[in-house]
Amino acid sequence: MNIQSIKTASVAVPLKKPFKTALRTVTIAESIYVKVTCSDGTTGWGEAPPTHVITGDSLAGIQYAVEKVIAPALIGKSLLAMEDVFQTLDQCMVGNTSAKAAVDMAVYDCFSRHCGLPLYQLLGGYRNQLETDYTVSVNTPEEMAEDAARYIAQGFTCLKVKVGKDDIETDIRRIQSIRDRVGYSILIRLDANQGWRAKEAVTAIRKMEEGGLDIELVEQPVKAGDIVGLKFVTDHVDTPIMADESVFSPEDAREILSSHCADLINIKLMKAGGIHNGLKIAKLAASYGMECMIGSMIETKLGITAAAHLAASQPNITRFDFDAPLMLEHDAVTGGIEYDGKIIRLPEETGLGIQQVKLAKESEEVR
Ligand code: MG
Repeated sequence: MNIQSIKTASVAVPLKKPFKTALRTVTIAESIYVKVTCSDGTTGWGEAPPTHVITGDSLAGIQYAVEKVIAPALIGKSLLAMEDVFQTLDQCMVGNTSAKAAVDMAVYDCFSRHCGLPLYQLLGGYRNQLETDYTVSVNTPEEMAEDAARYIAQGFTCLKVKVGKDDIETDIRRIQSIRDRVGYSILIRLDANQGWRAKEAVTAIRKMEEGGLDIELVEQPVKAGDIVGLKFVTDHVDTPIMADESVFSPEDAREILSSHCADLINIKLMKAGGIHNGLKIAKLAASYGMECMIGSMIETKLGITAAAHLAASQPNITRFDFDAPLMLEHDAVTGGIEYDGKIIRLPEETGLGIQQVKLAKESEEVR
């Protein structure tokens, strides 16, 4: 069962409402889809969106990396030696974690189809459904309260609120305005996307604690590279702090874990370079008794399905940020995970469970 070909295609799906964080505004979800075909005819799919301000990967860069570097290195490799495949994938080029993640997903899709199991069961099978939060983009306090109320009316009970774009007083007003609107039974987690300096983060979070705003956790308060600042914040507030942009690789996770620079880690396949490294981070965190979230970039249901399989497989992955497909005008694939409001059900078909992939022109159906 050898890898016979690795092909790419580009996909673009408009968002219902612009997605805004301290780092960027997104109006169209663009991705490279990857299709791996094996010698026995088994096929698998993967996805990589470009996230210039987080991974540094671009659409053209992802496509080049997959077609010109990764494909030549992996074609002919046996999927019955998965560690050889992943070692080659990691070592064939530095960086390019998004391209690697798309190929990794497609390889896992093929392998779990070959094994006759849904991927989440092959990886550990801890649960078969998840509950996602919904992201409130950073806007005026009034608009954010409106958005929050709409998502709660749709049945979501956990909001991930984007902050860190202006001064901390505005951020506090944003949260107060959402709390005034949705009440205190709703779980609110914050994501500053590196928007604060360490001392400023401590001031903001302490004010929120004193104001009784009841924040579950704060994600990435400081710059990705400011590990000392991240630890300073973690040590000086009661609210749990989650590392996101500071942790790409298992090696990054080890640094955070060994010095307790954060209380939680947000794993994303696009940062880690795929499921095999995401799994390593989760298991490393488990050895420190740490829980993880799995999140995503703005991706279609293909990439989120792969991430959901990993998320469902491990007991210490306890938080799920998988709202991206709900923000899109339409799906680019059929099959995969199913949404029932905030509940996500894992497919029981083998592999990722993706049935059909519709490329840029809806008529170009590949499977
Ligand atoms: Mg984040």
